[in-house]
Amino acid sequence: MEYISSRGQGKAVVGSKAILEGLAADGGLYVPKALPSLGNLKDILTLNYRQLAVKILCKFFPNLPREKLEEAVEKAYKESFEEEEIIKIKKSLGVSFLELYHGPTLAFKDMALALLPYLIRIAKDVEGLDKEILILTATSGDTGKAALNAFADETDTKIVVYYPEDGVSQVQKLQMKTQEGDNTLVVGVRGNFDHAQTGVKSISNDKFFNEFLKDKDYQMSSANSINVARLVPQTIYYIYAYMEMVRQGEIELGELINISVPTGNFGNILAAFYAKEMGLPLGKLICASNDNNVLTEFFQEKNYNIRQELICTSSPSMDILISSNLERLLYYLSDGDQIQVREKMLALERDGKYEMAGINLSDFYGGFADERMVSQSIRELYQEGNYLVDPHTAVAYGVYKEYKEEWSDDKKTLIVSTASPFKFAGKVASSIGLNIEGMEEFAILESLAHNTGLQLPANIDLLRGKPIRHNKVVDRQNMMEEILNFL
Ligand SMILES: *Cc1c(COP(=O)(O)O)cnc(C)c1O
Repeated sequence: MEYISSRGQGKAVVGSKAILEGLAADGGLYVPKALPSLGNLKDILTLNYRQLAVKILCKFFPNLPREKLEEAVEKAYKESFEEEEIIKIKKSLGVSFLELYHGPTLAFKDMALALLPYLIRIAKDVEGLDKEILILTATSGDTGKAALNAFADETDTKIVVYYPEDGVSQVQKLQMKTQEGDNTLVVGVRGNFDHAQTGVKSISNDKFFNEFLKDKDYQMSSANSINVARLVPQTIYYIYAYMEMVRQGEIELGELINISVPTGNFGNILAAFYAKEMGLPLGKLICASNDNNVLTEFFQEKNYNIRQELICTSSPSMDILISSNLERLLYYLSDGDQIQVREKMLALERDGKYEMAGINLSDFYGGFADERMVSQSIRELYQEGNYLVDPHTAVAYGVYKEYKEEWSDDKKTLIVSTASPFKFAGKVASSIGLNIEGMEEFAILESLAHNTGLQLPANIDLLRGKPIRHNKVVDRQNMMEEILNFL
């Protein structure tokens, strides 16, 4: 199992190296040269989440010792997840919802990020690397907190997170600004997520900065989904959820199901594509976007065009125009044509668009939900299905319904539920008809809990008393200065 850059100019590397480096040296993303096979599905039907996780990790990272991976999975998913149930599947209005938000920061990013510090530690051991690790991350809201939570107080590691000052929810912001741990730095950026992400990219490529890191003996890595160590753990829950639906009698083993994924950086849905390629019986992969609907155009017309303003929506973790992981999909769909992938990525940087005429996109359906559809979906699921979802999940539900109608496809469908509704209380409360005008965030949270009879998650309640530890907000051109001071 080797990893190569999607743009094809570097050498193939082993898993441990791909994990430590994050981004390949030519600016491309590491992809496994060939995806492993799941083998006989009957053999994984009886595995619990942790056993399955170890099995999949071993397939992707054969050069990491199995006992270490077992230990990592045990620790990552034990301490902060709700008991045995790492994920939950709930049924409402005829569809199944895969709840991935029962980790410490209440969004699906925990599923992979809880494991990442352990994978990095094991990779460091394997490589014999004794440098300090610098994790540099741009966040649209949830990656930041999940990464901070995972890496806080980790030895020989520093973590720096940039978030768009006006592009995250109140709870997301508070979660990050109250982060403890002397090895953490959180900085707001005046601008949107694409600005923060582009800023982080240019810091990573900056010559002076790289000399500085070399002098100080740091190895830079990434907690964003450009890192394969983010992607691989995300394949596990698709496989597990499918098997769970079989065990519950919802489907027969081998029956095709559709999956609808609320999509931003294209990491989560790419993991579903990986699972399908590995042999999981999946039908359509429904790529659900919000008003930032560049991916919808891509799947409908094979055109990727980011020449538009980024819109701030009620699903901020999907307010993205440059979906990094789409590059990996292009690699597979062009049959590993790395030269073509490199050309398209350069065109995107230069012209803000590219066309990919010759590829077959039939695994996917692309659609988007505007704010009205999001509110309507939240309301419908709550009033008719007695089920409360967050705005991201509502996007996936809205687009699923549109797909079903358009294609008359009655396959069982799994909607990926990516965050607790309490992380986005304002939109959720107003969608179900609560009057929240003029109320401050914690009053809205209480009103939402009171009116729905649901419990306010403890990790949100706790934020009330926590002191603010990070208060910096900078212009885009001053992002690097903050790290230099910190290091
Ligand atoms: C990150 C995130 C998404 C988008 O996932 P990608 O892997 O970036 O496509 C959707 N919903 C929530 C709540 C998220 O945090």
